[in-house]
Amino acid sequence: MTTLTGSCKCGNVRVALRGNPVRIGICHCTDCRQESGSAFTFFAVWPAAEFESQGETREFAGRRFCPNCGSRLFSANEDEAEIKLGILTEAPTPLAPTYELWIKRREKWLRPIEGAEQYLEDRT
Ligand SMILES: [Zn+2]
Ligand SMILES: [Zn+2]
Repeated sequence: MTTLTGSCKCGNVRVALRGNPVRIGICHCTDCRQESGSAFTFFAVWPAAEFESQGETREFAGRRFCPNCGSRLFSANEDEAEIKLGILTEAPTPLAPTYELWIKRREKWLRPIEGAEQYLEDRT
């Protein structure tokens, strides 16, 4: 089974993900834009049991970040962990999005990802 690893910019927080994610997405919603400071987020969801993190994090509205360097990291509950894929060590990642959310907020100069399911807002 493959394990992917990642960390925040300063290295205080480290994550490990075992096996394949349940789903891989891109989100263009206003929350994702504001919290990332970018045009969209690229993330994947693993079962909570396949996710581990080390190091202190803080949380705002369920979204965890490093209190030292500010890197956005993950959201996790007892079932699932949603990881921001920009924190992975491997770049490019071996993962490609299978769906896109909130495409009504997608920048006009971005094209739909070929083969990815397209949702105007949240996944239905
Ligand atoms: Zn950090
Ligand atoms: Zn979003």
